[in-house]
Amino acid sequence: MKTQLFPSYTIGPDAYNEIAKICMPFGSKIAVIGGKRAINAAKNKIKNAVVDSQLSITGFFLFGGEASVENIERLKSIPEVEESDMIFAVGGGKAIDTAKVLAQRTNKTFFTFPTIASTCAACTSLGILYHPDGSLREYSFSSIPSKHIFIDSGIIANAPDKYLWAGIGDSMAKYFESSVSSRGDELIHSQEMGVTIASMCNGPFLKYGVKALEDCKKNIVSSELEEILLGVIVSTGFASNLLNIDLTTGLAHAVYNGFTVIPQIEKHHHLHGEIVSYGILVLLAVDKQEDELRRIHKFNSDLGLPTKLSHLHCSIEDVDKVIDKALKGIDVKHYPYVVTPDMIKNSIEYLESYN
Ligand SMILES: [Zn+2]
Repeated sequence: MKTQLFPSYTIGPDAYNEIAKICMPFGSKIAVIGGKRAINAAKNKIKNAVVDSQLSITGFFLFGGEASVENIERLKSIPEVEESDMIFAVGGGKAIDTAKVLAQRTNKTFFTFPTIASTCAACTSLGILYHPDGSLREYSFSSIPSKHIFIDSGIIANAPDKYLWAGIGDSMAKYFESSVSSRGDELIHSQEMGVTIASMCNGPFLKYGVKALEDCKKNIVSSELEEILLGVIVSTGFASNLLNIDLTTGLAHAVYNGFTVIPQIEKHHHLHGEIVSYGILVLLAVDKQEDELRRIHKFNSDLGLPTKLSHLHCSIEDVDKVIDKALKGIDVKHYPYVVTPDMIKNSIEYLESYN
């Protein structure tokens, strides 16, 4: 037996006005958990939204900087968190995943409040946990997502635009990876639906991405920005909730994993989605999708996403290490063909001379 759950969502600069109506059926006491910048941005809006309602806030708590089991345990033992009926998870991916996994493991209802749009964490039931030193610990699988996502586009328009920029790259990978990883498979309903929803992680991004990023830089809420927020959070999240792990990943994320062993990546603070967006170009070159490669290469250039190794502070000397690590993970284990080191190397060389 399999039950599939999806959050509902509200988007707009006034999205938090719906909090009382939507959350009241689930109890009265709310513990708000999030990042520092996120709580600063959202605190007054959340307080104003529950005033004159039967809801009360037991406190605002910082998640602790890392989505770790240690932080979850610390938060769990705070009496005001323990006595709450529901959790508000506020912030970016790591803050949301911390509050999400805490809620899932304590059987509390939770709601998500993304304050940047860099991932689909606000929509997915999956939580990604790290060790306190920042290295990956585990995927915390659950079938329970947020009850509702409150997407305040005004707060996100005022957040640093680099998160949206990288979020676009990561989201678009959902389409290219799921469509290639599932090629030739006999898909059951949930997987077919996931791949179909993931197809929305391509066209709308190409159509609205450049304008949305410009608007985010100017702190303007526009319909194009909201289309992209829905793409990053909802289309990508719904696809993730449906797809099995072997179809949600692929060569773009394998390439990302490969780059994590190169010291310049960390030193220059290259973002996950930024590297993944370069991985999409490698995926398309390996898969010989020439037309799509031309489109995405131009899109990456227009958006200032990387198209060459130098954009990631890397050179051709780093490539063997990248490939070695890239092929060690699970990402291309389920793929329509065997991806060889030479395929990746030739594609990276091809991209170096591409214009
Ligand atoms: Zn990713």
